[in-house]
Amino acid sequence: MSDVGIDTTVSPSGPGCVECDHQLGWWFHLRRCAECGHVGCCDNSPGQHASAHANTTGHPVIASYEPGEDWFYDYRDQQFYDGPRLAPPEHHPLDQPTPGPAGRVPADWQQLLR
Ligand SMILES: [Zn+2]
Ligand SMILES: [Zn+2]
Repeated sequence: MSDVGIDTTVSPSGPGCVECDHQLGWWFHLRRCAECGHVGCCDNSPGQHASAHANTTGHPVIASYEPGEDWFYDYRDQQFYDGPRLAPPEHHPLDQPTPGPAGRVPADWQQLLR
């Protein structure tokens, strides 16, 4: 993994997926764009907004935005890596449930995973 696509000075966009928050949707796990800080939902989530962001912007690297996870993933070679520390916070708020956010997750969410 090269440093292209990673900016350690950019703060994450917020505690939840940008698009899901806009659409009042929900997510399973969250990913953070290592280049611009966009927070999006994972590929198991209905929206798959982290991958959609990478596709539309060309930003190639995401980091986990889950507590206790510190991996990076590079879409160019589809490999997982260790990466540098990004600007805090390094994960979503600990009181935010998985799946999340509170109040927007349907009862049958497990059937809705991709
Ligand atoms: Zn989303
Ligand atoms: Zn980005």
